[in-house]
This record gives sequence, C-alpha cells and structure tokens, in this order.
Amino acid sequence: MTKQMYSFSEGNMTMRDLLGGKGANLAEMTHLGLPVPPGFTITTAACHEYQQTGKLSDALLAELNQALTALSQQTEKRFGGTSHPLLVSVRSGAAISMPGMMDTILNIGLNDETVAALAAFTHNERFALDSYRRLLAMFGNVVYGIDEAAFDQVLTTVKTQNGYHSDLSLTVNDLRSIITAFKQLYLESGRGAFPQDPSDQLLAAINAVFESWHNHRAQVYRRQNNISESLGTAVNVQEMVFGNAGADSGTGVAFTQNPATGEPALFGEYLLNAQGEDVVAGIRTPQPVAVLQEDMPALYEQLVETAAVLETHYHDMQDLEFTIEKGQMFLLQARSGKRTPTAAVKIAVDQVAEGLISKETALLRVKPESVSEMLHPEFDTADLARQTPLTKGLPASPGAATGQVYFSAAAAKQAAENGQKVVLMRQDTSPEDIEGMIVSQAIVTTRGGMTSHAAVVARGMGATGVVGAHDLVVDAPNQCARVNQQEINEGDWVSVDGTSGALMLGQIKTTPAAVKGELSTLLNWAKDIADMGVYTNADTPSDFQRALDFDADGIGLTRTEHMFFKPERLLQMRRLILATDAAGRKDPLSKLLTMQQADFYELYQLAQTKEVTIRLLDPPLHEFLPHDEKEIQLVATQIGVSPDELRDRVAALKELNPMLGHRGDRLAVTFPDIYEMQVQAIMTAVLRHRKQGLEVQPHIMIPLTDSRAEMAWVRALVEGQIQRMQPETGAKVSYTIGTMMEMPRACVTADQVARESDFFSFGTNDLTQLTFGYSRDDVGAFLPEYLRQGILPADPFQTIDTQGVGELMKMAVNKGRQTKPDLPIGVCGEVGGDPASIAFFEEIGVTYVSCSPFRVPVARLAAARAKLNKVRTQTGDHGG
Ligand code: ADP
Ligand code: MG
Ligand code: MG
Repeated sequence: MTKQMYSFSEGNMTMRDLLGGKGANLAEMTHLGLPVPPGFTITTAACHEYQQTGKLSDALLAELNQALTALSQQTEKRFGGTSHPLLVSVRSGAAISMPGMMDTILNIGLNDETVAALAAFTHNERFALDSYRRLLAMFGNVVYGIDEAAFDQVLTTVKTQNGYHSDLSLTVNDLRSIITAFKQLYLESGRGAFPQDPSDQLLAAINAVFESWHNHRAQVYRRQNNISESLGTAVNVQEMVFGNAGADSGTGVAFTQNPATGEPALFGEYLLNAQGEDVVAGIRTPQPVAVLQEDMPALYEQLVETAAVLETHYHDMQDLEFTIEKGQMFLLQARSGKRTPTAAVKIAVDQVAEGLISKETALLRVKPESVSEMLHPEFDTADLARQTPLTKGLPASPGAATGQVYFSAAAAKQAAENGQKVVLMRQDTSPEDIEGMIVSQAIVTTRGGMTSHAAVVARGMGATGVVGAHDLVVDAPNQCARVNQQEINEGDWVSVDGTSGALMLGQIKTTPAAVKGELSTLLNWAKDIADMGVYTNADTPSDFQRALDFDADGIGLTRTEHMFFKPERLLQMRRLILATDAAGRKDPLSKLLTMQQADFYELYQLAQTKEVTIRLLDPPLHEFLPHDEKEIQLVATQIGVSPDELRDRVAALKELNPMLGHRGDRLAVTFPDIYEMQVQAIMTAVLRHRKQGLEVQPHIMIPLTDSRAEMAWVRALVEGQIQRMQPETGAKVSYTIGTMMEMPRACVTADQVARESDFFSFGTNDLTQLTFGYSRDDVGAFLPEYLRQGILPADPFQTIDTQGVGELMKMAVNKGRQTKPDLPIGVCGEVGGDPASIAFFEEIGVTYVSCSPFRVPVARLAAARAKLNKVRTQTGDHGG
C-alpha cells in the first residue's frame, strides 16, 4: 500500500506535488526548527482516489487512525478526550497556491462535552465557547452548506441587542445563546444536527476539503491562472493553537518585505484575541505589525528573526501566517509572497545586493510583462474599484487614461489645442487620423484586432488603446456613441483601461511611471547578459527619444511613410501621386526631399553613435489620397485640379487588395524617383553630419522583397543614387542595404536573396498575414472565435506562430547564413516586443529585435531571460 499520510517531520519542501504547497512548507519549517504546531498531511494522491471513488478508502481510514494516535502522543492530548482534548484544524492546500479558494475548518474535536473539558483545562470558559461557536459556523458552512450569512445574522442580532461594537464584548452567556441558535440553524437546514462525535467531524471535514477542489470559485481561479484541474488538493490535519485565548493571544499575517513597494521591512497586520481569518475578513480593524513591536517586543523580534530565516532559506520574499497563544508564537504557513511588479523588481535587486540570489536568478524572477505594467500610468486602485465598466474591448495598448470624448481626429485635435485631455473614439482609424491620435490620451475603436492600425499606433505612441469594442456603436455624424442603452456625447468624460480593455464613464485618478532605481539596475544586468540587441521602431524624433530614455540600442525600423502624414507633407505627397508624369513629380519631390532630409538629420542627431535603419516607402499609394467627397473638394482646390479629375485619379489608383498590391519596392520599380529622393535625403543628412564631425553609417531597408532579382534591381537603384552622392574628396560613406523578410517567397529563397542583402529584418506582421492568408485588418471578425475554440493557441500577430511562420523564419535564417555566415538578422514586427516570441528568436539565432519604444525594457528583460533559459536547457540545469 502506498503511504497516503506524512507527518510534518517526514515531509519536506521538495514534496510539493504530493503534499501541496502548504503541507510541504509546514514540513520544511518543522525541519528548520521553527515553532509549527504538529500535524500530518494527507496526500494529493489520496485526493485523486477520492475524486474517482467518491469516498475515503478503508486503507486511508486505518492510516488516519494511526496518524491521530501519533499526534495524541506527541501533543499529550487526546482527540475527543474529556480531560486534555486535542483539537485540530483541517486545511486544504494544493501544489500551486490558490489563496483562499478552498476550505479550512478550525477547532475540530469540540462538542458539548469537550467544550467543557477545554474550559476546565484552560480555566477559560469564554475562550472555549468562542472556539465552539466558530467551529459550528465554519463546519456548518463548509460541510453542510449552510449560508454563512445565517450565522453572521445571529451574531449581529446579539451584538445589536446589547449595543456591542466588537465580538470581544460577547459574554459567556451571549456565547451560550449563540451556540444554541447555531445548532438550531443545523436543524433548520434539513441536514441534521451538528455531529457530536469528533471522528465524524474529522472525516466529514476531510471529505469537504477534497470536495472543495471542485467549488466554483476554485474552478474560476484555476481557469484564470492556467492551473490544471487534475492536480487535486492535499489535506493538512494540524493541532490547534489559539489566538483567541485572551489579550495575550492573537493571529496575523505578514510579508517579509512590503509586497506593494518591495521596501525591505516586515509588513503585516494582526488582531489580538482573534482566530484564523479574522484579520483578512475585516471583522475588526487589524493593527499593523509595528504596533506589535511596542506591545510585545520580544514576539516582534521573534517574528523578524523568523522572517529572516525563511527568506534566507527560500531565497525569496515570504507570506507568513502566524498565531500567538498566551504569549507564545506559532507559524501556520509560509509561501512565496504575491507582489506588485514594482515590488518584484525591488526585491529581486535587493536580494542580489544581499548575496541571497545571483543576477541571473533575479532576471529569471521578474516577468517581462510586469516591466510593461510598471511603465504605464495606472489607475488609482481604490478609485478604479468603485467603477462599473460600460463595456470591454481588446486591451490593445496598456495604460490608464482619462479624457473627454471626440469622434473625429479633427475635433480631437481642436479640443487638445484648447488644452483639453481627449479620448478619440472611432469605428476604426486610418493614417489620416494620426494627428488626432497623437494628441489623444486614449484611442477607442469598435472594430479591428490587436494589430489594427489603431492598436499599433496607440502602442507605438504609448497611448492607451482599446480596440474592437463591439458593443459600442459610434455615430460619428451625430457626434455620439451608444452602448447598452447608455449614450456618450462629444465632450463627455470617460476613462479607458488599456490593461483590461474596460471603458468607463467619468474621470478616474492616475499615477505615472518611468525606468529608474532598481528597474534600471535590473535592465542593465539584462543588457550585459543578453546576446540579442534591442532596437526600437521609431518614426518620429519624440518616439526615438522615448526609446533612448529606455536605453534602446538604436532604431531597427523607421517607417518613412509616417513622416508624410503631417498636413503640409500630405499635400506634397498628394501632388506627387496625382502627377501624371515624372516632370509633374519633380516639384513635390524636391519639397519632400527637404523635409525628409531634415527628419533624418534629426534622427541621426539623436542617435549619435547608435545605429539607425531607415525603411523606404512601403504602403499603397492610395492610402495618401482623399476618400470622401468633402475631402476631394478640398484637395482639388489645394492642388489646383478639378474635383472630377481628382475623383478619376483616385478611382484609378484604387486597388481591390491594396495590401497585396502596388506598394513597397513595387513602387520603386514603377516610380524610381521616390526611392531616389529618399536615398538622397538620407545621404544629404549623413553628409551634413559628417561636416559637423559625426560619422554616420546609413542602413537602408527595402520592404516587400520577393526575390533575388527584385532585390538586385532595387539595390542597383539605391546604390546608383548613393554613388551620385558620394563625396568627391575624403573617405566614401559606408552603408548597408538590407531586406525586409516578410514575403514567404523571400524566406524560401533566402540564400539567393542574401546575395544582394547586407542584413535581413523579419517583418512578422506581413509575414504572418501572408503565411496564414489572414488580412490583419480584418481578423477581428473571426480570430477571437478561433482563440475561444482553441483552433489557434494564441493570436499569431501577437505571439509568433513557431510551427508555421517560425519555421519559415528558421529556414530564412539558415539559408541566409549559408550564403553569409555573419548576416545580421533582426525582427521588427509586433512580435519583436513579445517575450514568448523573443525566446523563440533566441533559439533560431536572430541577432536583434526591434519594437515600439514602450516595449524596449520588456524586450530587454525577455532577451536576457531567453539567453539564460537557453543556457540552462543546454547544460541540463533546471535548478534555481
Ligand atoms: P488558506 O489556505 O485559505 O490560507 P489556511 O489553511 O491557511 O487557509 O487557514 C486559514 C487560517 O486558519 C490560518 O491562517 C490560521 O490563522 C488558521 N489556522 C489554520 N490552522 C490552524 C491551527 N492549527 N491553529 C490555529 N490556527 C489555525
Ligand atoms: Mg493560509
Ligand atoms: Mg510590412
């Protein structure tokens, strides 16, 4: 027969799976010599058997008897005894901590006889009765399913009748009548009287704890935290110690460090003359542990020492539960403490300083996503808790924002110029809305997915973004929106939670953030350890500056088209596109040249010795054209053609599948002067810097390449322009010309393409779109259902699809390096900032990632962790 029970002195902390976290740690603390009341743990294996058979086996019952006998001997008390009664708690505890999700029953063993024995034995009748009424309420609720409120009601009535403010005022007589009333509740429940036999109580309690694995809240918690349904819980049976034995007793919880801020000080609360969860349940207002320092200095010292012992032993911040019985301290639980991202970082860095853990362990202990959470303003938690969301969309760009609603970019811009904080609410956004987006605190759309325009732009700017809020109906012409019968009008205040996707009415307070202190220390370690570089996608100097503040290695992708959306440039761009021949393109090109040259100059200025990769024009031309009648009229006047002529031209440029149409380097083939102008602008900026003493090596990236022949053609175009600009005297400007790897065909022929490329950079957005055949602007209609049905494990635009897209990337890396062993290979799509994807990129040998400015710190930490995890797998070391 396999053993189904382990006394605390038999187990240890490596036995989590079998004994649950609580049981394994109670055993470990016992071995450390800490004051843990004795007891034993019934294994999770026994729980599995119970789940199958629905009853406790005979073998288990026999073992339980032996374990109880041993516990009696050890404590010199007897379970059910009438002189020195042994009372126990029956406590749930799974392998993965699920705080408060399952049940625990205290004071088991009390009945009408033993309660008198306990009173006599302790000379404290009030305490004995108080323990009994607690047992009756807990047992009634957990085992018989009697509503907790029914017991509370009895207590409240007695307190109100007597004008008491606290349970502490209850007298012996009050407690007697409460006990009588509680027993009556059992009878009324139809489940029968409270079982007087302590053994019956114990067995029923064990059953109930096993059953509590399946209660609703535990199931919900497991689903949310990805905990397997099949784990099961262990059950701990432990001698009771009493925090309710008088004014020299109490119960409390403590964190060895502050879990909100990570400050290195014992942090906790306790209540005198109380038991179990009274502290957490908010029945009375608990005292901070600092007060314990004044009231019971010796015990406080002991608690501080215990905290230090446990932290050193577990190498991590601990969450403790303790009880004081008549001036004596007992430990009832220790587990690794849950903490805010800020606290996680501070604690990890502090522990390296103390020599408790290595830098590597510290890096592995902080989740990259928590860095992201630290960098965006947050809603004040208390204020947020008071709100009911109007509706929810996809959490596209984290952050917390409050502002007044506007339904068009123009209105948003106008309001922002008047000093208002604005939230732009639209069905969807297009590049034309960019100005309105820039000034907005948050962007909300009713359509689109996580990589829709609104989502990408919001993340890029660090604006809060919620997209695809389907229940919201935006009626832009009437400047209002509706959701669940509620109308939102222009100028109304709303608050947007980009972390949860919630939209709320009214203003909610926020608190800001930056990389500083311990976070910057941690990120510096990450930089030292990581192999992969972390660059940023930046289209404007302010984006780039933000990324530099986050210590980006440089720019991995500048999308030059975003520079064309400012009004005066849009006009020139439109003149350029609408011109019918090269002669007509000349003037707008020269105007654009001047502006682009200044843009590049500024980026290089900011970059100094850091590298900047500039991608030449990518999007379909018609994105720059006016779409509605009003705009056509306006633009026609601006550029001096008739509206009819303009309409015809716009119609001519319209494509059925613009994303698969006339864009990227295909534009270079048909309008070579546009790329030539851009290269000229780059070179002019480089040469201006050279005059001022800054040597810049330009890196030029060609979008949408399909083949070696195409790349060779475009490369010749670009190089021709560079040659024409090379200085007559002095050294030549050295440069590189690389390929976006975003067409499946280019990946498959990467050995060929590499012959014409100095570097590769994966554009995973287009590559994913083309590999799956999903239009990324239309996935909102079906992707959520694919995720719900489990057809896709994750949104492939958010986390790299390793099996398909990833395999193509791997092929491209290998083929590219067959041709050029040292070929630098980057990733500049959305997934470049995603930790899980970064781990995969490390595996396939990617040189660097490039992501939006706010993702830079996240990617930095992820890159270091990817390296560390790779080293660990290679050396077979899974410790730590
Ligand atoms: P949870 O898993 O919800 O934290 P626990 O099993 O830790 O539940 O029990 C809750 C509380 O009950 C403990 O924090 C402790 O205060 C009290 N408790 C549990 N066992 C005992 C015991 N043997 N003696 C005294 N108090 C106990
Ligand atoms: Mg607990
Ligand atoms: Mg692309």
